[in-house]
Formats: sequence, structure tokens, C-alpha cells
Amino acid sequence: MNFDFTDQQKIFAEQVGRFAREHLADGALKRAHDSRFPFDVAQLMAKQGLLGITLPESEGGQGGTLTDAVIAIEQVAAVCPRSADVVQFGNFGPIRTFAEYGTPAQKSRWLSDLLAGRIVMSLGMTEPDAGSAVTDLRTSAQADGAQYVVNGSKVFSTFSPEAQIFLIYVRFGPGLDGIGSVIVERGTPGFAIGQPSTFMSGEEWSELHFADCRIPAENVLLGPGGFKKQMAGFNVERLGNTARSLALGRYAFNAARDYALTRQQFGRPLCEFQGLQWKFADMAIKLESAQLLLYRAAANADRGLPSAYETAVAKTACNQAGFEVASEAVQIMGALGFSRETLVEYCMRRTRGWMIAGGSIEMLKNRIAEHVFDRRFDQRKR
Ligand SMILES: Cc1cc2nc3c(=O)[nH]c(=O)nc-3n(C[C@H](O)[C@H](O)[C@H](O)COP(=O)(O)OP(=O)(O)OC[C@H]3O[C@@H](n4cnc5c(N)ncnc54)[C@H](O)[C@@H]3O)c2cc1C
Repeated sequence: MNFDFTDQQKIFAEQVGRFAREHLADGALKRAHDSRFPFDVAQLMAKQGLLGITLPESEGGQGGTLTDAVIAIEQVAAVCPRSADVVQFGNFGPIRTFAEYGTPAQKSRWLSDLLAGRIVMSLGMTEPDAGSAVTDLRTSAQADGAQYVVNGSKVFSTFSPEAQIFLIYVRFGPGLDGIGSVIVERGTPGFAIGQPSTFMSGEEWSELHFADCRIPAENVLLGPGGFKKQMAGFNVERLGNTARSLALGRYAFNAARDYALTRQQFGRPLCEFQGLQWKFADMAIKLESAQLLLYRAAANADRGLPSAYETAVAKTACNQAGFEVASEAVQIMGALGFSRETLVEYCMRRTRGWMIAGGSIEMLKNRIAEHVFDRRFDQRKR
């Protein structure tokens, strides 16, 4: 067993770190407080080969592994936490499911614009009455000749105020086998995007409404029976949330460590107080142990999709570690940590959201328990 990166991974990490320091260090604070998607960063990253890292070169990607994409998140977030969202969008988000299952015609239409950072894609899965119980979704797609007619609504979709295309989970018919997904373009008649609302993290989302919205049959991504494949693709998105949770926790940890080395109280640097030393030791243990689970899930996936169980374990551990460490970092930095002059409070707010998004930690623990007992526990009332 080897716990170190390969030489190639070390070189890649160094290259991405250098890119981040040269292009993303300036403006990192401002970017964190700007709710708009940073298209300028996306276009820079596209030129640097940081979008589509795991996609085949024949499709405009880099032919890399999921671990490479995790390394990119870590290196970028260490310099500019907000820019890690762009790595997420270009490698882990709905783009990955789209690249995995899209038809050649769909990919030739949208993939190059996505990989160039010219447009962004949003995922419409959650509905007002279907959150954790995602299979309760009601948004329907009914065949009508060469078209499908979509009706329903979605909430909380990341990037929805600016996205050009939307990957929408729909119901073609009853039951689990009735679920699939379609691609809907902004501006399609019958598709309305509401006024943006704001999460605690500062990100914005808009309600999506479909009222007899007609889309061509070619826009079906996964037809009836596609739900399992969809969730397999969604595990990549989860792993991106996992990696960002940990990376932002580490950013806050580093900031607090640097602060504790220089900030003096009672005539001594903070790092000399045992009450704070033990906080740092606990934070280091949380980060290091969660990181191994993240790397295991990514390395075992290689160029494919990660296992549901390893993703659930890694996401739960990294979500908790990221938030707990960022929260302790705020405490260690006192009022300065609680202020918007540093990115530590931002890391705390962002990591909080990932405990809910992409499969809440409670739902993931349900899945882990099923693995432990090798039994399915139906959450529904019988
Ligand atoms: C920052 C952020 C970004 C998001 N981005 C997107 C996006 O891009 N696209 C999208 O479609 N959605 C997105 N979401 C929505 C997200 O997927 C849902 O918030 C999530 O699935 C939980 O649904 P809910 O908020 O309706 O909570 P509910 O399902 O109502 O759950 C409420 C609470 O009850 C707990 N709970 C529910 N059922 C159980 C159970 N059986 N056992 C134990 N606990 C349970 C939950 O864990 C949670 O703590 C985002 C959310 C956040 C916070």
C-alpha cells in the first residue's frame, strides 16, 4: 500500500498550484463574496486544461483520473476557495453525468461550450416536495410525437440564475423505473426561471418552473429506467462536494495556524497555549483521516464512477471534518475570524451547506448503515 502521490500526480499538483498562485491569488476575497459564476476563471481554467480532466481527449477532455480532478480542487482551493467551484462545475457537476451518458449529438451541441467555460450547466433534481426523498419527484415528461412536454418545478439548483442548460430529473412514468432525465435550454418556451434567492453561503439559486414546456425528443439524456445510472453519475458530484469540504476546511486550518504563530496575547503567541494546541491536533486528525477516505473513493474509481458506499463514507467524513475544522478556525481567530476580512468565515459557511447538499449526512449515514447490516431499510411509511 502506498499513501503517496505518483510522480505524475506530484507534477500535476505543482502545475495547478503554480497556476492558482499566479492567476487566482489576487481577488480571492472579492470572488468569495460575489454570487455570480466566475466565467473569467472558468475560461482561464479551460485554457489550463482544468475543465474535463477526467473526460477522454477525443471529447475535448484531458484523459485524466478522478484523483487528478480531486488534486485540482485541493490546489485551487488552497489559494482561492471560490474558484474550486469552477473545478467542480467542469469536472464533477452535472457535466460528468452528461459526458457519461449524453448522445454524440448532445455532446457535439453543448460539450465544447461547457469545456471552454463559455456556458455553465445546472442540475434540477430537488423539488419542493421531493428533497431527500428524491424518488418522490413529480416533474413529468410526456411524449407527444417527436417532442416531450415537461411540467413541474425544481428548487435549490446551484448556478441556476446563470446556467444556459439544465439537466432535469423527470418522471416519464410511475415508480422508480419511470425516472430519467432531460436537457432543457434557458429560453425554451414554457420554462421560467424565478428571481434568485440566496443561501447562507452567498450562492444564489432560482426556482425553475416548467409549464407545458416542449423539448425535442433528442434532449432526453436518460430515458425511463435511467435513475440508477443517474445516481452513479451523481456520486461524482458528491465526491466534488467531498473534496471541496475538505479543501475549505484545510484552507481555514492553514489560516488559523498562521494566525496562531503570530498573534500575541498575554505576551505570547497563541500557539503556545495548550488549549489551542489540542484544538489544532484534533483538527489535523479530522482532516488527515477524512482525506484518506476521499483519496480511496477517488483512486478506486480511477477513470470511472466511484462506488456509492466509498463515496458516502468519504462525503460524510469530509463534510463533518471540513465544517468542524472551519468552525474551530473561526474560534481560534476570534473576532477577525468572524469577519469578512478573512476567508475563514466563508469557509465555515460553505462547508455547512455541503452537509445538506448532494445527499445530506443523515441520508448518507442511512446508506452506510444499509451496507453495515447488508439490508435495505425502507425510509417510507408502510
Ligand atoms: C448549498 C446547496 C446546494 C444545492 N444544490 C442543488 C442543486 O444543484 N440541484 C438540486 O437539485 N438540489 C440542490 N440542493 C438541494 C439538496 O439536494 C437538498 O437540500 C437535499 O437533498 C435535502 O433536501 P431538503 O433540503 O428538501 O431537506 P429534507 O429532505 O426536507 O430534509 C430535512 C432534514 O431531514 C433529514 N432527513 C430527511 N429524511 C431523512 C431520513 N429518512 N433519515 C434521516 N434524516 C432524514 C435531512 O437529512 C435534513 O437534515 C442544494 C442544497 C444546498 C444546501
